[in-house]
Amino acid sequence: MREMQTDRIAPEHENSVNWPTVAFLILFHVASVAALFFWSWPAVITAAILFWVGGSLGIGMGYHRLLTHRGYWVPKVIEYFLIFCGALALEGGPIQWATTHRIHHAHTDEKGDPHTPRDGRWWSHVGWILVPPAELLDQTRLERYAPDLISQRFYRLLNRFYYVPLIMLAVGLLAFGGWRVMLWGTFLRVTLGLHATWLVNSATHMWGKRRFSTRDDSRNNWWVALLTFGEGWHNNHHAHPTSARHGLRWYEIDFNWWGIRLLQFMGLARRIKRVRFNRASTAWQLVTGRVKSRRSYEGA
Ligand SMILES: [Zn+2]
Ligand SMILES: [Zn+2]
Repeated sequence: MREMQTDRIAPEHENSVNWPTVAFLILFHVASVAALFFWSWPAVITAAILFWVGGSLGIGMGYHRLLTHRGYWVPKVIEYFLIFCGALALEGGPIQWATTHRIHHAHTDEKGDPHTPRDGRWWSHVGWILVPPAELLDQTRLERYAPDLISQRFYRLLNRFYYVPLIMLAVGLLAFGGWRVMLWGTFLRVTLGLHATWLVNSATHMWGKRRFSTRDDSRNNWWVALLTFGEGWHNNHHAHPTSARHGLRWYEIDFNWWGIRLLQFMGLARRIKRVRFNRASTAWQLVTGRVKSRRSYEGA
């Protein structure tokens, strides 16, 4: 029975169903539908703010561009704050998240990629979470791909108890905002955030435009970018993974980049890596820190 199910979802992955995850995802989806019948303005506004806190500060600026790719530097207290926000998105612990994503970059759309649409579009969206590839849970892989994170006690702790911040938040929302605010700010907001992130794994490896002819299927997808505060400029990202800036043209809206620029303006973010168009060599180049001759580069 178990083998039949995994075979059907992704033939190459011999794994077992993660039933606790299945149960939690069903619960979150049912509660999200229920939330639609019990809305209020405070609930909607709370959910919108937390969608930004978890999705932009937490996942985009924190888990992804800061922790996984080290696209910029911030003081430890700011780093830990952003990663704490990331835990509120309920996408797993920071070490697990970063390891999975580093493996995705190392084997994009080829054998070993945990979530490529080449194994099926539903597999890339959610299947790989329900039936996680065994190697993702392998301790030696974590040690190989994320030694920089495993060495820090904060990340080891948060990786184990990543759901605790969300429980604390839910209790706080219930106490101070009531159950409608809790329903929207926790269940509906988390569920929408999960699908937004999952679309980066599924949609932006199938639909959109390609500026760079990378060896993978990554694409720039404007509507996924809007849902994820800029993570949808995924072809740009796969071409230059360490760039803290993903939207490379003015019309490629990238809220996460603006957030990083704001941190820089406040004197908090440094050593920012970014891709710029060099007019002299007519090529996109990765630059770090301040650019001496601004005139030779286009874009902000
Ligand atoms: Zn990708
Ligand atoms: Zn990445």
